[in-house]
Amino acid sequence: AVSPVKAFVQKKAPASPPLPRQNTKTAPPSPPQVIRDNTHSASYSRVGFLGEGGFARVYEVQDKTGLRQAIKVVTKDSLKTKKAKTKLYAEIKIHRSLQHPNIVRFSECFEDTENVYMTLELCESGSLMDMLRRRRRFTEPESRFFLIQLIGACHYMHRNQVIHRDLKLGNLFLDQDMNVKVGDFGLAALIENPGERKKTICGTPNYIAPEVLFDTANGHSFEVDTWSIGVILYTLVIGRPPFQTKEVKTIYKRIRDNEYDFPQERPVSLEVQELIQQILTHDPQQRPTLHEIVDHNFFVTGTVPAYIPRTAQDKVPDFR
Ligand code: ADP
Repeated sequence: AVSPVKAFVQKKAPASPPLPRQNTKTAPPSPPQVIRDNTHSASYSRVGFLGEGGFARVYEVQDKTGLRQAIKVVTKDSLKTKKAKTKLYAEIKIHRSLQHPNIVRFSECFEDTENVYMTLELCESGSLMDMLRRRRRFTEPESRFFLIQLIGACHYMHRNQVIHRDLKLGNLFLDQDMNVKVGDFGLAALIENPGERKKTICGTPNYIAPEVLFDTANGHSFEVDTWSIGVILYTLVIGRPPFQTKEVKTIYKRIRDNEYDFPQERPVSLEVQELIQQILTHDPQQRPTLHEIVDHNFFVTGTVPAYIPRTAQDKVPDFR
């Protein structure tokens, strides 16, 4: 039998690259105020709403011991097709297999008649995307701090044959101590055979690697996450993604042509420019490894803060 993960990822690639998701559905009914997990005889009181994504809503909950967590709720209505079910099972299978300090911890998964629920580590400080909106851009020491944590998580995923495939600021959450927690494994893929290549066109336009879009015959592998790390680094220090434009087609053209620049009005160090250029190499085989990235002068000669103060959510911290 084909495993659910394989069934999903070996699906024929869509004819054209993905366009941003649009939420045209009407809002589904809210989950109960007290969500019961009968199989583990646990219950969770809903205490707040955290956000929603393509197919899930996420709430803050508290269990009987007072422990606060996030709960991701997927309505069974949205799981009517085999494809939707397979995709959710793949996300759960991959996410629950990962345990790392910089990956959102997956605790339990259960269901009632209406919904499937996943309890997750609570990331109180939102995402790096939310924080970037308030800060406009980050200092290079902060960027080093966030990137080192991201690379640690990514190295762990790759060692466990998992490609995230949707690394972006909106999927990098922050806990109360401002540590990075990689989340949303909705597009993650498991490499079950060495050398296996993935063919599904997926990702988020601004962060998508060129081989995902333009080398569909050959497929893609772990290096797509490295590419996204390059896009993330650029976005942290410059304040917007390198290939950004209004039209998705134009973004893809810019990715194909490796067309981006470092705007004069936002000066950054030569080290960070060089590292970004090395990571955003068109040929995935020529991209630096994660080890090579952390050995780059940007990290070696620059300071890395021991921690980021919570005040950094709104203003530049003074360790510059
Ligand atoms: P989807 O898979 O549907 O895209 P996400 O996993 O991206 O859903 O979650 C949707 C939103 O919920 C996020 O953008 C974020 O605002 C919030 N969220 C998700 N996970 C957590 C978490 N562990 N802690 C706090 N907020 C979260």
